Amino acid sequence: MSESEKGKAVLYDGNRCIGCRACSVACKSWNKNSADKESDNGVEITGGIEGKTQLSARTFTFMRYREIGDGYDLHWAFAKIQCMHCLNPACETACIVGALRRDEETGAVLYNQAKCIGCRYCMVACPFGIPTYQWDRPSPWIRKCTFCADRQNGGLSPACVTACPTGALEIFDERQQAIEEAHRRIEASPDKYVDRVYGEKEAGGTSWMYISPVDFQDLDFPNVTNESVPRNARKAMGALPYYAAGVIVLMAGAYWYTKRRQKIAAGEHEKKEG
Ligand code: SF4
Ligand code: SF4
Ligand code: SF4
Repeated sequence: MSESEKGKAVLYDGNRCIGCRACSVACKSWNKNSADKESDNGVEITGGIEGKTQLSARTFTFMRYREIGDGYDLHWAFAKIQCMHCLNPACETACIVGALRRDEETGAVLYNQAKCIGCRYCMVACPFGIPTYQWDRPSPWIRKCTFCADRQNGGLSPACVTACPTGALEIFDERQQAIEEAHRRIEASPDKYVDRVYGEKEAGGTSWMYISPVDFQDLDFPNVTNESVPRNARKAMGALPYYAAGVIVLMAGAYWYTKRRQKIAAGEHEKKEG
């Protein structure tokens, strides 16, 4: 097993999902995320049966609903959207101050706000459009699904996985086990599944993977290349002298900026306490 293959993995099975959104509620509850406002980053929340249709600083996961077929042959297809926890995360590679890193124990790609300088390169780099930003805060941070690393470290499964009443979300100790189970289900019921495990190879492989009764394009999954962004790109860039000099200047500015943001955040916290 390569270093990047280590960590847990989750398999989402679109044939087992009933679209109840217990996973989304559990995520909100565990992360103490309040309800979203009327609009998020200027985009109206349309409501309807889907409810929330995009990730935000307060919504780390949501259920995507798609009506498939036509005439009397209409049916619903679902997909749970959250960070894919890539094996070679583009967000980690893009972050020039190392505020994002993959944890090999849990498989979670974690964010450290103490290091973040708010450049938002991670948002641009992510091929799945996952990281969001606290646009409405004076000291904003990046926000996204944490793979419930805090729960995992305490021996618990992610809140969404625990809440799922149908077993549509299943966690595996090793990614290879999830891949084998995914292929076993497809082979056992080829009429029920499309022959693809989304995340097995996309973006170099992810820790969250999907099997589905309908094509992934019909669920608006991005057509991501199988190539990963090399994790050592930043190291390689750091070896270039002119790049290193630029980074030193940037880091000094970043340090000042981060400290300032932490002061503002501390001030906000004190105000709330008082
Ligand atoms: S899905 Fe995006 S945010 Fe999540 S680990 Fe991969 S690159 Fe990073
Ligand atoms: S793993 Fe945790 S943070 Fe991520 S979607 Fe599930 S409940 Fe939310
Ligand atoms: S809790 Fe399970 S069945 Fe319900 S919407 Fe989430 S993944 Fe689907």
